Amino acid sequence: SSRVVIIGAGIVGANLADELSARGWTDITVVDQGPLDMAGGSTSHAPGLVFQSNASKSLSLFARYTVEKLKSLERDGESCFNQVGGLEVATTPERLEELKRKHGFATSWGIETRLVGADDCLDVYPLLNKDLVLGGLHIPSDGLALAARAVQLLIARTRKAGVRYLGSTPVTGIGQAHGRVTGVVTPSGAIPADIVISCAGFWGVEVGAMAGVSIPLLPMAHQYVKTTAVPAQAGRNELPNGANLPILRYQDQDLYYREHGDRFGIGYYGHRPIAVDAAALGQTPKVVSEDSMPSRLKFTPQDFEPAWKLSQELLPALQKSMVAEGFNGILSFTPDGGPLVGQAPNLDGFFVAEAVWVTHSAGVARALAEILTTGKSQVDLGGCDLSRFDPVQLTPAYVKETSQQDFVEVYDIVHPFQPRDSPRNLRVSPFYEPQRQLGACFLETSGWERAEWYEANAELLSNLPAKWRPVERDTWSSRYYSPIAAAEAWKTRTAAAMYDLTAQRRLEVTGPGAVDLLMRLTTGAVSRPPGTVTYALLLDSQGGIRSDLMITRLDERTFQIGANGPMDVAYLAREARVQTAAAPNQYVQVRDITSGTCCIGLWGPRARDVALAVSTDDLSTPGLPYMRAKRTTMAGIPVTVMNVSYVGEPGWEIHTTSDCGLYLWNALWRAGQPHGLIAAGRSAFYALRLERGIRLWGVDMTTEHDPYEAGLGFALRATGDDYVGRHALRGRSSETATRRLRCLAVDDGRSMVLGKEPVFAGDKAVGYVTSAAFGYTVGRPLAYAYLAAHVSEGDTVEIEYFGRRIRATVLSDPTYNMPHVDQPR
Ligand code: FAD
Repeated sequence: SSRVVIIGAGIVGANLADELSARGWTDITVVDQGPLDMAGGSTSHAPGLVFQSNASKSLSLFARYTVEKLKSLERDGESCFNQVGGLEVATTPERLEELKRKHGFATSWGIETRLVGADDCLDVYPLLNKDLVLGGLHIPSDGLALAARAVQLLIARTRKAGVRYLGSTPVTGIGQAHGRVTGVVTPSGAIPADIVISCAGFWGVEVGAMAGVSIPLLPMAHQYVKTTAVPAQAGRNELPNGANLPILRYQDQDLYYREHGDRFGIGYYGHRPIAVDAAALGQTPKVVSEDSMPSRLKFTPQDFEPAWKLSQELLPALQKSMVAEGFNGILSFTPDGGPLVGQAPNLDGFFVAEAVWVTHSAGVARALAEILTTGKSQVDLGGCDLSRFDPVQLTPAYVKETSQQDFVEVYDIVHPFQPRDSPRNLRVSPFYEPQRQLGACFLETSGWERAEWYEANAELLSNLPAKWRPVERDTWSSRYYSPIAAAEAWKTRTAAAMYDLTAQRRLEVTGPGAVDLLMRLTTGAVSRPPGTVTYALLLDSQGGIRSDLMITRLDERTFQIGANGPMDVAYLAREARVQTAAAPNQYVQVRDITSGTCCIGLWGPRARDVALAVSTDDLSTPGLPYMRAKRTTMAGIPVTVMNVSYVGEPGWEIHTTSDCGLYLWNALWRAGQPHGLIAAGRSAFYALRLERGIRLWGVDMTTEHDPYEAGLGFALRATGDDYVGRHALRGRSSETATRRLRCLAVDDGRSMVLGKEPVFAGDKAVGYVTSAAFGYTVGRPLAYAYLAAHVSEGDTVEIEYFGRRIRATVLSDPTYNMPHVDQPR
């Protein structure tokens, strides 16, 4: 097997060594700068609360696996998990609602939870103040991980299987040659390796720097204290760390609790963000104790003051105790709160698994081990991939700003559309100024400002035909929403609208090997002549969908690709490097051209009239049929025009360089006024694409789905050479798929859902909502969900939204067919 070096023997490194060795890998060395009996990282002091429910499906599944694994890891009859259960309490009406939403996620991801009233909370947790608690969420399978013990058992088990451990050995350098790692450097010599995996926890930035890899995490202090003995707890638990009560979260005040025998442990996130410079912590001592642990900083009691008062209110029994000891522990935060997992985009063979909680440690380790040994993780890693950030998101300033916000919001109720507060206006399209003048409401994604709707279109609401009038929404689904979106959808279907698509990823693939690369990696028949546009998928080796692409052949050796994100860039660029190295005369280059270009989607029954006013070229259907592209000019600006449509109306994506974007926007805007042209935002776009049945990668499909399940079998080419994933799909078809992505319409015509809600057939949860939006054209809320293949059109199901069941009927998909065009896309 490959020679592997793992940096870090915390809960992540130890689990990874175990998962790899369980899969038959034999040449593994784990190096830690600290002593192996207590290495001094975050794991050494982690109180080990494992709350499994999470808005992220992947993180919930990772947590569930951690629970299973730690339960099975035992010595002398004692396992590494104390399954006391978990209780999240609500003390505000908003939190009570939030717990219903959380119960929904947990149900969607297959984790059993119970919404409980105030009295039941007291049954489960008698120490609670009954005057404060309104209700709770009880998760019977949550509990306490004995993380430090687990590390010792994993080290012992893997040592037996031949894994080598080097304690008190700092890695000081990463060897590399020709874009690949060659090993690590330590004071006692170099260790050669084919694969190096940094599990260095909050030291990840420093280890990354040794390899020239930017690691977007920020080490931050988080307070944890232990009380003196609580008289009411005397004799209830084994000392010093026994626990019987569920782990407790009081998220309204950023607090959590566990028992340590007759004492309490209290964790607090409500204090000011305290960023830490890991490089300044110095060397880990040869013997680590609680006092000399590098991951423990001196307690700052003034930061804890409000927490102590709040804790005594929630748990009055604590009034008979005091804070005995405390520390500011260090752990990692990231710009979007997710962990960092996977291969570095710029260094082959260098992997990381960092910013991982104890809660997710075994699950993440299993996923990475699966990637290394089979090329695919059974749980989707999209939201965890190290490559998911753009260069502007990797700067220390961005990482600090956003990770601190992540710390502040860690227990907050966060709406799925909530934009970050800062930095804002980091990335704007060339159309930003006219959009602002039209009263654009901007939300933020990956640093980009994106117009959701335009206040200038508010005046259209008074003319909106009755059929198009938006329905009243509940408070949650009306946040970050305006009924103006209905008017924008109406104008798109009846006149013309321009959409700013600049933030969508654009790549250029060039070179004599371009066709080969795209034929090998994508499912599309891309070797067709210049001017053709092909919708295609990127699959993993086992047929899971790793992305979807719109591939335009511009000339013999140049393609422009509409892709999903930096992960696509990393993957295609890496494969291009491999191909070029193997066959230099078949070289191929992949470039992310998003920032240097811009794009307007011009669609609607009158789009052609608008285009005619700025172009003398033949853009009629015979002149430029559906799924065809050409380079031409509009208003004197060189553009690439593609006849494609996400919204289901005729029109084009019009691409040009950033410098000319504003001129083009203004020219189209002026030309469009006589034809009723408006600017429309993402809110309408999202709804119209759903009516059109267009799948969104990362939401409607991930590596956990194959093309047949996702309803994308049409994107697989039938002939030609093999592509990655084709072999795995042999024997599969739409008929053999056991689940399928189905379109649901809400029966009452007005109850909104937003995504991730569980879908029920009778009492049984049978799936969950992927995307949802109000279908303005069909006049009903729409939702997509994977349902068992036997479910057919006309069947009814129920969607659970904040604890309420909403009836929905399975419709044919899509609900809106594009006029004049009969191809699937
Ligand atoms: P670590 O345990 O930090 O291990 C990294 C290892 O890498 C260290 O041993 C270090 O010595 C080694 N290393 C670093 N650089 C080098 C180098 N150059 N050469 C060699 N070795 C190197 N999580 C939960 O899930 N539940 C909780 O209740 C919980 N509570 C927490 C409470 C506090 C106060 C804190 C601070 C954290 C808490 N966490 C909790 C988070 C959790 O502790 C961490 O996320 C987790 O332990 C990280 O594990 P790790 O293996 O990635 O990192």
